[in-house]
Amino acid sequence: MFRRLSSFLLVLLAGAGIGWLASGLAGALAGVIAGAMVWFFTDLARGSRVILWLRDPQAREAPTLWGLWGEAADRSRRLLRARDQQLIESEARLQAFLAAIQASPNGVAILDRQGYIEWFNQTAAKDFGLDPQRDLGQQIGNLVRDPVFAGYYAGRDYGHEVLLAGRGSTPQRPVQLSVQLHPYGDGRLLLLSRDVTALAQAEAMRRDFVANVSHEIRTPLTVLSGFIETLQSLELDPTERERYLGLMAAQAERMQTLVQDLLTLSRLEGSPPPGFSEWIAAEELCSLCVDEGRALSVLLWPEPAAPQQVRLHAVPAISLAGSSSELRSALSNLVSNAVRYTPAGGQIDITAEILSDGRVEFAVTDTGPGIAPEHLPRLSERFYRVDRSRSRESGGTGLGLAIAKHVAQRHDGELIMTSVLGQGSRFALVLPANRFRPAVAVGQGGAMRAPRTGERSGRSGPARQPPQPRT
Ligand code: ADP
Repeated sequence: MFRRLSSFLLVLLAGAGIGWLASGLAGALAGVIAGAMVWFFTDLARGSRVILWLRDPQAREAPTLWGLWGEAADRSRRLLRARDQQLIESEARLQAFLAAIQASPNGVAILDRQGYIEWFNQTAAKDFGLDPQRDLGQQIGNLVRDPVFAGYYAGRDYGHEVLLAGRGSTPQRPVQLSVQLHPYGDGRLLLLSRDVTALAQAEAMRRDFVANVSHEIRTPLTVLSGFIETLQSLELDPTERERYLGLMAAQAERMQTLVQDLLTLSRLEGSPPPGFSEWIAAEELCSLCVDEGRALSVLLWPEPAAPQQVRLHAVPAISLAGSSSELRSALSNLVSNAVRYTPAGGQIDITAEILSDGRVEFAVTDTGPGIAPEHLPRLSERFYRVDRSRSRESGGTGLGLAIAKHVAQRHDGELIMTSVLGQGSRFALVLPANRFRPAVAVGQGGAMRAPRTGERSGRSGPARQPPQPRT
């Protein structure tokens, strides 16, 4: 301020001095007026430069001035720079926030007070079929036409979520979306969507499983309690009594087999996959399963039925890495199925082969009734049976192939099922190359451990429930 005043006085003095020299007192007066005017217009010009720059600071360079206007320009420049910095920072924060919502596995859309879409992420675009170019600024009610959503949106009761059929949902491949609106701010809405197809499927599977298990247990239980009632109420002769007790034992054994298979499945699901510390000789694994199969065959098809031929072909001298009890259980189930479903006089071949792609395959081929192609994809589902009565009569639980498939997957392999109706079936357990190595002589860690007392290898052999007399 002092500098400004002194510069003003200096200009007046200079004007007065020049005027005095030119024409005395009158000149000095005119010089003072002229100095004041020069000072005023110069100041006006400098102030205008600052104002012009402040009107559009992005487009113009800040003026470099001295004095009061210089300081004003300087301070304005610093304030503008701080504001720009703040803008950059909040823009970066906004972008980071939007990127986080963009990465969300759930669909998110922001609606204004009238329900017009302000922003949405990719998941919401996928869930509702929205197009970022076309649909921003559109009314949500016009774009999501599902009547369930329309009713929910119009009802304005957003305290609960609604389930909608997702885009591309078909009866064969249902897609389910859980959608909820959350009011926030001054009447805006946050639309959240979540794909709950897998959850709904798991819940449906759980319900089916419980219903199936209950049904499987209820049948033998009903029969059993019927016999108990008969034994309690009727005077039976010893032969009849013996027959009834035999039937009861068969029903009890059926339940036991079921529980055993359920426990095996739950163990397979609940334990970590087998590692590479236990090695099993393939020859021994196959021989054990074949022996069990032959024993079951004799039990199921006693003379005078024509005997089945259960043949084991040459097995490569390899050892397998994994769980011996699981592998035995899987292969046993395949052999036992072949024996149970192939009629008397049929042929069952067990082969082990190293495939051209380096994997090893254990296959059980039979000359049984075969399976129609439409059943094949569902065979390894729990409790899925093609011939329900044949399965039950021969002691099946409907869980054998589910167990075999689980075991294959836990050993990084697969269960391949092929069949020709009327000609026979082939079930192959295929394991990857890293799951086997050349067999090591017994005593060097290549032998299979014996099953523990009470441990059942599978559902075949002596442990298998004998064929039940019809009740
Ligand atoms: P189950 O205990 O009923 O045999 P599985 O899971 O082992 O249950 O097999 C499922 C169904 O697949 C069986 O009920 C049967 O209908 C069919 N199946 C399995 N193996 C054979 C086979 N070798 N030949 C014909 N059908 C078979």
